[in-house]
Amino acid sequence: MKSLCLALSLLACSVAVNAQERNLKIYISADMEGVVGVVTGEQLGPQGFEYARFREFMTQEVNAAIEGAFAAGATGIVIGDSHGNGQNLLIEKLPANVLVVRSWPRPLGMMQGIDETFAGAIFLGYHTATTNLEGVRAHTLSSARLADVKLKGVSVSEAGINAAIAGHFNVPIIMVSGDDAVVKETTALLGNIEGAVVKWSSGFHSAKTMTPAASYVLIREKAQKAVSRIREFKPYKLNGPIELDVRFKNYRPSEVLSYLSIVQRPDAHSIRFVGKDIIEISKFLTFINTYELGLEP
Ligand SMILES: [Zn+2]
Repeated sequence: MKSLCLALSLLACSVAVNAQERNLKIYISADMEGVVGVVTGEQLGPQGFEYARFREFMTQEVNAAIEGAFAAGATGIVIGDSHGNGQNLLIEKLPANVLVVRSWPRPLGMMQGIDETFAGAIFLGYHTATTNLEGVRAHTLSSARLADVKLKGVSVSEAGINAAIAGHFNVPIIMVSGDDAVVKETTALLGNIEGAVVKWSSGFHSAKTMTPAASYVLIREKAQKAVSRIREFKPYKLNGPIELDVRFKNYRPSEVLSYLSIVQRPDAHSIRFVGKDIIEISKFLTFINTYELGLEP
């Protein structure tokens, strides 16, 4: 906005700022590991005996955030269904005035649908990074395949990657929900954003949890507060070029990816790629986590 203002007259600039205030669009990136009560794979995918009920809890947590955001003046909401198959949310239980991004692959991953027209973004049901010693289901992008993801030499969480994608569009993160460990990890990175702790981690597969009824109240309250504080938050910017290091749990992905001249292989399990910005990094991460010859259609 600053450089735009320099180019425009003072009057035109104040009109642009007013338009931005009227346009209080909020993006919600919804994951599942940090949803109330989630502790194991039984809640996280169609094969789990509790998945059907936990889709409902995830949907109602998103609804609570939507209600809170609208109560604080949000003018539009887009939700990225950003867990597992990307088809978790029960969309018929969401209100008529929101849009939902579903399924994969998509170039901006868990942030697909965000752009510079948004005023803020919320991370719902998030979890800690694979390098964190604490947190329910701590992992980064793939619990089965990746042992570390670094940007500019620093291990990052999904919240860290996604905050940088939002920051590319000058959109600040305003709230995170999940267990105590992810709220601690994310506020350490992003500062004084609103945090909704809906459970307290006692290990990778254990937590002391609130009930869904309590989490909905908390998330609604925090989302309303976050949107009402929206002017206080700054976008998280990672300027390019950005060095990405990915450590695989297995050997062959790094071996085969190193055939590409844009990819280096610093050690047996790791690859390095330098992207011009976080968007290129996001597309590269999506590619290496998706590509499989013989996927039809
Ligand atoms: Zn996740």
